[in-house]
Amino acid sequence: MATATKAKKKQVKKSQTDKQNSLAEEQSSQPMKLTADNYYSHETSWQYMSVSLFKDFEKCEARALAKLKEDWKPASSSVPLLVGNYVHSYFESAKSHQDFIEENKKELITKPTKNDPNGHLRAEFKSANSMIQTLQADDMFNYFYAPGDKEVIVTGEIDGYLWKGKIDSLVLDKGYFCDLKTVDDIHERHFNTDVAVPNFIYDREYDLQMAVYQELIKQTFGVFCKPYIFAVSKQTPPDHDAFKFEGMTDKYAMQDDIRKIKELQPHFWKVMTGEVAPISCGKCDYCRETKTLSSFTNASEIEV
Ligand SMILES: [Zn+2]
Repeated sequence: MATATKAKKKQVKKSQTDKQNSLAEEQSSQPMKLTADNYYSHETSWQYMSVSLFKDFEKCEARALAKLKEDWKPASSSVPLLVGNYVHSYFESAKSHQDFIEENKKELITKPTKNDPNGHLRAEFKSANSMIQTLQADDMFNYFYAPGDKEVIVTGEIDGYLWKGKIDSLVLDKGYFCDLKTVDDIHERHFNTDVAVPNFIYDREYDLQMAVYQELIKQTFGVFCKPYIFAVSKQTPPDHDAFKFEGMTDKYAMQDDIRKIKELQPHFWKVMTGEVAPISCGKCDYCRETKTLSSFTNASEIEV
């Protein structure tokens, strides 16, 4: 049975704030059981690392911590996220999709006017409907994605630290899982200098997500599963494609992702428990909002 002993030892140290004190208390007891209702709550994020939180910490520790402590929220539009969830919920079940539309009506439907008393579906979600139709019309997508269990919560430990994940579509008996991605353009070249292959999967670290999910599925169900990504683009008409991680570069990247997690996570947990101060990236939305000047930088030394 997986235990959090090592995680507790490493994570529970002297805390600096009330919130961080309560974190230490929470972690000294049993970790919360994850459910569909609490999976995305910040409360569970103080106990389980997730791919999105890990990526937040990689980008800017100060921003990730402020978000987690609910001291700060990004002001940027939530529309791309909603488009993704709109498409996901459709392939989860008819009820999930209906519930999602009901819960997000304000963002999905335009304000009523004289000529349009009921409002209408915003352009982004009309485009999401054509993304859905594109996938639905594809036999290979239906064959692989449709039969899986949807939104399956998995947990486990990586190097002694607790992790959580949610699988879009899991087909245990055939040994694979699928993740559905909505993307601007599948063939766009990205310029993140940290990645070897400049496509959207490596730019957004979906390889890391697949490596973590593969490990958590193995720990939760005892089955080694192949990861597949189905991507659908927001273009008109939408592009769509299916990806596997079976080339040498893909396999090496996933091994390297787990190595990177093992290397970085002890520090991220120290930041979360208040043991060490977070490092600010100095460039992100959070850093710009909270910036105060303290010295001059040589003009020739501006980071670009
Ligand atoms: Zn920052």
